[in-house]
Amino acid sequence: MSRFLQAEINLKSLIDNFHFIKSVTKGANKSSKIIAIVKADAYGHGAIEVSKSLQKNNVDYLGVAFYDEALTLREAKIECPILLLFDREIEGLFKHNLTPVIFDINHAKELSEYAKKKGVTIPVHVKVETGMGRLGIYENICEQVKKIANMSNLKIEGVMSHLSLAEDPLWSSEQISRLKELKKCLSSLGINPIFHISNSAGIFLEDAIFDAVRPGIMLYGYSTGDVLDGIRPCMTLKTKLLDIRKLPKGTPISYGKTFITKRDSLIGVIPIGYADGYFRRLSNRGFIIVKGKKAPVVGTICMDLTMIDLTDIPEAEVEDEVIILGSCGKEKITAWDIASWADTIPYEVLTSLGSKAKKKYIYEMEGMHYDFRESKKS
Ligand SMILES: *Cc1c(COP(=O)(O)O)cnc(C)c1O
Repeated sequence: MSRFLQAEINLKSLIDNFHFIKSVTKGANKSSKIIAIVKADAYGHGAIEVSKSLQKNNVDYLGVAFYDEALTLREAKIECPILLLFDREIEGLFKHNLTPVIFDINHAKELSEYAKKKGVTIPVHVKVETGMGRLGIYENICEQVKKIANMSNLKIEGVMSHLSLAEDPLWSSEQISRLKELKKCLSSLGINPIFHISNSAGIFLEDAIFDAVRPGIMLYGYSTGDVLDGIRPCMTLKTKLLDIRKLPKGTPISYGKTFITKRDSLIGVIPIGYADGYFRRLSNRGFIIVKGKKAPVVGTICMDLTMIDLTDIPEAEVEDEVIILGSCGKEKITAWDIASWADTIPYEVLTSLGSKAKKKYIYEMEGMHYDFRESKKS
């Protein structure tokens, strides 16, 4: 099945964002490492192409949520270290040389036994609770990490935690000081792994860098605040006008008659709907760029189709390219805009729309030269 929604992914922007993050973190700690988070198909940007680009630029680590995501990367011949964030997989982990994040002592025991049987020692990262309330060792933390450190055939390479509200420096500093305390306790026991707690938003917080950072959204060009100089969004989403209809004042548009034309109108029909991840919540709220101008979404968004008001853009023609996310002329729609119209966050916008779109990768060569490559996965 071929849908019309096209995502253009600019890998040059991705790498520029990567270097920007690197320069910020190296400013705080010269030897800090980058664990690039490529979970959820690299936030909808395509994990294989994104990971290949990052690997070429010497990323230290890739981070994925689940084993299948790691397997996809290994099968695509991506060889750099991969941190498995949320998975208890054992056999495949050894087979494909993945690094587990241990968030439960029983998992550690199983890993240790399996490693012993195989006669290998594997690096592991241990996750600890500091205030996220999600995963991680949460009782007698120092003691439990010590137990894991003493298990045979496991080497604690990293100890990590996760910020729950990186936008709040006060709350974050509490989480950071809990991790610092643990670091002290472990150090007194002679356990000195690398420490990391920072997601994208944490990168600018005091003392949050430790030895590594785990940026996700910032790699793709978004900060958790509004605009951030130094990073650029990587994804542009486009489709085209399927039809334009001239309708008199008083005509109901789409399911539920939630919009009735208030004047003689030009109504455009575009082939995108909630099946593409274009939230139904955007009905009568969203905008789409046509010929460099913003056209409002009118009526209820359907599974495959959305209607827009083109009355003020009479120059629009059938088959014209329209921009769902990105810029054209003076107009721009960001994942923040769509998120605010749909009451959600840019993460959900990117993963919802990006994962379903047909992808085209742009490698900016010099100035205005582009090198297009279609993705193989449809
Ligand atoms: C998703 C995730 C990140 C990345 O978060 P961003 O806000 O996208 O930078 C980092 N660490 C963990 C454990 C995550 O789950």
